[in-house]
Amino acid sequence: NAPLSEVDPEIAQVLERELDRQRGFLEMIASENFVPVSVLQSQGSVLTNKYAEGYPGRRYYGGCEEVDVAEELAIERAKALFGSEFANVQPHSGATANAAVLHAIARPGDTLLGLALDQGGHLTHGMKINFSGRLYNIVAYGVDPETSLIDMDEVRRLAIESKPKVIIAGWSAYPRQLDFARFREIADEVGAYLWVDMAHFAGLVAGGVHPSPVPHAHVVSTTVHKTIGGPRSGIILTNDADLAKKINTAVFPGQQGGPLMHVIAAKATAFKLAMTPEFRERQERTLRGASILADRLCQKDIADAGISVRSGGTDVHLVLVDLRNAEIDGRQAEDLLHDIRITVNRNSVPNDPRPPMVTSGLRIGTPALATRGFGDVEFTEVADIIALALLPNADIPALQARVAALTAAFPLYPGLHQ
Ligand code: PLP
Repeated sequence: NAPLSEVDPEIAQVLERELDRQRGFLEMIASENFVPVSVLQSQGSVLTNKYAEGYPGRRYYGGCEEVDVAEELAIERAKALFGSEFANVQPHSGATANAAVLHAIARPGDTLLGLALDQGGHLTHGMKINFSGRLYNIVAYGVDPETSLIDMDEVRRLAIESKPKVIIAGWSAYPRQLDFARFREIADEVGAYLWVDMAHFAGLVAGGVHPSPVPHAHVVSTTVHKTIGGPRSGIILTNDADLAKKINTAVFPGQQGGPLMHVIAAKATAFKLAMTPEFRERQERTLRGASILADRLCQKDIADAGISVRSGGTDVHLVLVDLRNAEIDGRQAEDLLHDIRITVNRNSVPNDPRPPMVTSGLRIGTPALATRGFGDVEFTEVADIIALALLPNADIPALQARVAALTAAFPLYPGLHQ
């Protein structure tokens, strides 16, 4: 039982260097966050040793008394947090949660109607070489090229035309709230299930700063590691008792073997924290940070450089930057921000003239910096740094110094050693 630094110094160094990287950069990938130390503790615990196929009280292994308590807590807290009648907390990730949802409510060959990947959807919503695109017949809706918004009349038209078994509402890169009631109306009109994948905005929902899809959807799935800031994993919610049974069967034995009990315990802790006033306040800062960033990137100096913000702003935790008319492309912008120690990801914009490895867009999110403690003052500073970095002839050393001042003022995981 020698420590990691002795057993495997190479991996120990990866952990140490990664902690340094996280401390020294401003993390603005919209799907990332920092888990609290309490969550790190559960994930690095002896619960990883335990097999627990089945569900609490109905396991296929002995010795599950303690992990049953953890899973019950995670289930009850997830239900309370999102106001649902049922929760399955076993999915290993968002993608496996989504695979289980489809396994529960559709059969191979059925038609799914979801947001196209290149318009802001997710791989699991029907991308050609993902399981979803291979197993199901995919019809995709997009966003209006002028407004960058989902056109609900177009969704209805496609739904009436294609009679899908499932309509998918949810996104990985979309800066506005969805009209869940209208999605449900359309689903009811054509006899489809409405599945909402709230992976990105679940933390906003939990914090009460974004409408909840739970009263509208037949099924809701989410990751736990994005805006919620919990362990990397997924969950599935529903208010329908029949669907609940199908979802449980779809997850186990349909899709997974032993659940990751250390991660499920960490989910329970993350959900407990998500019910606190501090969590709500953090989600409010997350939203304000994104809107401060969008406002800065809509100013004249940026517009003069051919750079714009898709949909003209944001209602959520991210901003989509459109570089189609700018000299700089998505990859150059991502690299440039990396040079000044801000991490973002490049993203295709609808009708992107540049190839997917280059792109003409950036997706910039505020959840991780809000967790780090940033408020309006710091987000105003970050927004200005990003704006100046994207303009021609940026003064890189000056911007690096401004980022370094922010990272120093908000230490990440103080006292933690890896
Ligand atoms: N659903 C949406 C909307 C996502 O954005 C993502 C992740 O990016 C996922 C599902 C998949 O989550 P994971 O990466 O945990 O498989």
